[in-house]
Amino acid sequence: MLSLNDYYKRGKISDKVIDLSNEALDSLKERFEKIDEIAELNQMKVLHAFQKNKVNASHFAKSTGYGYDDDGRDTLERVYADVFNTQDALVRAQITCGTHALSLALSSNLRPGDELLSPAGAPYDTLWEVIGIRDSLGSLSEYGVKYRQVDLIDDLYFDYDKIKAAINDKTKMVTIQRSKGYASRPTFSVKQIGELISFVKSIKPDVICMVDNCYGEFTEVIEPSDVGADMVVGSLIKNPGGGLAPAGGYICGRSDCIANAAVRLTSPGLGREVGANFGVNTAFYQGLFLAPTVTASAEKGAVFAAKLFEAAGFKTHPASSEIRHDIIQAIDLKKPEYLKAFCLGIQAAAPVDSFVTPEPWAMPGYDDEVIMAAGAFISGSSIELSADGPLREPYTVYFQGGLTWYHAKYGIMLALQKLIDSGFAL
Ligand SMILES: *Cc1c(COP(=O)(O)O)cnc(C)c1O
Repeated sequence: MLSLNDYYKRGKISDKVIDLSNEALDSLKERFEKIDEIAELNQMKVLHAFQKNKVNASHFAKSTGYGYDDDGRDTLERVYADVFNTQDALVRAQITCGTHALSLALSSNLRPGDELLSPAGAPYDTLWEVIGIRDSLGSLSEYGVKYRQVDLIDDLYFDYDKIKAAINDKTKMVTIQRSKGYASRPTFSVKQIGELISFVKSIKPDVICMVDNCYGEFTEVIEPSDVGADMVVGSLIKNPGGGLAPAGGYICGRSDCIANAAVRLTSPGLGREVGANFGVNTAFYQGLFLAPTVTASAEKGAVFAAKLFEAAGFKTHPASSEIRHDIIQAIDLKKPEYLKAFCLGIQAAAPVDSFVTPEPWAMPGYDDEVIMAAGAFISGSSIELSADGPLREPYTVYFQGGLTWYHAKYGIMLALQKLIDSGFAL
């Protein structure tokens, strides 16, 4: 039988990397315990929602055509609403990705003449075209929705004076992004988001506060919807899909906001009544059930990556010692060849497509060329071990996911090894 180190050696991981990993791990025991505590609480939260809604085998049935009377789909939406502590939810395979879910939440709740405010700096890259920050066919701007943005102070703090000045009688919605995405600012905690929402509502109580919840789900024991968000929005091929959902997105929130989203997703008059599940229900339910522990695995991988690469002399965001509020780990790799080497390591560690070499390419919705590594069961799934980064200074890699912690660990070790193989002196 091969030992663990034998397997590492087969992956051509050097003793130095193995030693450094062991040292990193020794110092992370308490962090891992804390992550497990959060996962256990969220597991109970999810389980309770399943039981309360009497989930049963009939809910896993496939529906086709119009999808009328799809009790499995409707019950899943009630489960999501309970998990996120909201009045209602829309959880659909027809919501194609996170950007679509966000675009749907925005376009269905805004009307011509309304203003959208981003009080915490620029939103995620793909939303630039949704909003029309960058000219784009079909953007909100084309429909006469105006956009305002207040940047963070020093990339860190909400600029409350400017936010107050930006809110006016046209301000209908506020969009807040929980995770840093491709930005250099830190990810916001749920508590911080709650404070921002309270401030906004103290100025204008009827503003709809939407939170882009991508990558944040289940990293804390509360969600933005527990602290005043009117809608939380995300992708099912990230945290809440648990790695099993083959596609999809969710919007959880106030009944009137969800009703608006439903008629925009399908059609006025039809709304949520239609939308076949195509047989994905089992994966949606089971994925949500696994999501708390899968998210914990990904978080352990993120903390370990930070610790290991700090030991190798790289700058990390967040640092390994910081409390984290999402599963993304950013590491400034400083050189394009290190960014490529990192991605090669993550790719080589994958259960699928381990033999291919990731190359940078121009991706729709992104400004710079992007390199991505993923050997995923679900195409593009970033709750699975994956790494990506735009080819721009300081060559930051954004690392996330890991359906199991052990796989994440191996991927990170191999990533460091590939940096060394490409000329990095440890
Ligand atoms: C991934 C992500 C999105 C977009 O999701 P896609 O599924 O890639 O369209 C939006 N916002 C944030 C913060 C994200 O991480």
